[in-house]
Amino acid sequence: MSQAIIRLSPQRVHRAESGHPWIYDNEIAAVDGDVAAGAVVTVVNAKGRFVGRGVANPKSKIRVRLLTRHEHEACDGELVRRRVREAWAFRQKIGYTKNCRVVFGEADFIPGLVVDKFGDVLVMQTTSLAAESFKDDVVAVLLELFKPRGIFERSDVPVREREGLKQQKGFLTDAFDTRVMITEPDDVKFLLDVAGGQKTGFFLDQKENRTALKNLVNGASVLDAFSYTGSFAMYAAKYGAKSVRCLDQSGDCLAIARENAALNGVAAACSFEEANAFDALNAWTKEGQKFDVVMLDPPAFAKNRAGLSGALRGYKDVNLRGMQLVKPGGFLVTSSCSHFVTPDLFAGIVFEAARDARRTVRQVHFGLQAKDHPVLWGFEESLYLKFLVLQVV
Ligand code: SAH
Repeated sequence: MSQAIIRLSPQRVHRAESGHPWIYDNEIAAVDGDVAAGAVVTVVNAKGRFVGRGVANPKSKIRVRLLTRHEHEACDGELVRRRVREAWAFRQKIGYTKNCRVVFGEADFIPGLVVDKFGDVLVMQTTSLAAESFKDDVVAVLLELFKPRGIFERSDVPVREREGLKQQKGFLTDAFDTRVMITEPDDVKFLLDVAGGQKTGFFLDQKENRTALKNLVNGASVLDAFSYTGSFAMYAAKYGAKSVRCLDQSGDCLAIARENAALNGVAAACSFEEANAFDALNAWTKEGQKFDVVMLDPPAFAKNRAGLSGALRGYKDVNLRGMQLVKPGGFLVTSSCSHFVTPDLFAGIVFEAARDARRTVRQVHFGLQAKDHPVLWGFEESLYLKFLVLQVV
């Protein structure tokens, strides 16, 4: 059967022509041939010039996800296997091999596929029909490359429903103990549960940002708000903080944070508070509590563009409340993981919060996601994590 051809509309320059791998339904002028869900299709521009080849999904607003830009390259399982091998070779090159993101979706040229490695355990997630349709190839190449103790699937994310896919979760190999212990830079240890934790179980994207706490937390009283399993908190304690308070609304996460504190021998310095951060930060401000260092790492408030203005209010609010708790001369360590909030937008919001709090701030450090989550230029969605360290005068 010959491949269907999808012709883009003539009115504008399409993002796909400068590196973006998605074709939206409203960019398509004509379809020549039969486009079934999961079919490989060829995309051309209005002049008939080859743009790329990828997997179609008539159920999704994102009609095609491109996997190749080479006219003579087949879009098949062999291509996907090669892409995974190349993704791993890249991690080896940059020195991210022990606990790392092996595949970061579009930025590794496999739209909608994420693979995280925690020692000898792999966690895989597919959020597109394109990735889903090559799942067997991905599993096969992962087994070949890593000979892992096991692979666990965490495709339990609502975004799959927009692709006409059900959420799913479970073992892709024989069952294994899903609780894993990892050792991160500076010998900080973490317990994580790849089956029960959030996302894939542990946030690898903050790896470099956690080590940015060194020196500035020494001897400090620290608040880790939106603490999850206490990953920033453990670094703060290991780097010599006098006290670290973990705050999260999830008791299950804090239970693991507690185990992590024991594992790192810093339990005496740590305390745990199960509460809504917005309420707790407010109450502590009213009580006049102060910390040397306040760390904020809320979830992505903006899940889509429509939710952006509400999300910006949320970010401003939480940063305002956090900043009020910082002692003069102390530090605010603040993150945003929504790609809709650009670095400039984020800095602007935090600056507004500083003005409202009547505090002067000095930027000490700015960071992004770790290097094993590379930013693909032309695909702005791949730049999502922003991390700021500010001194609050
Ligand atoms: N800093 C963590 C990741 C944080 S993920 C790390 O690097 O590992 C965001 C966390 O915020 C989750 O654990 C979630 O339970 C928590 N959370 C979300 N909304 C919250 C709220 N309103 N109050 C307190 N915690 C909240």
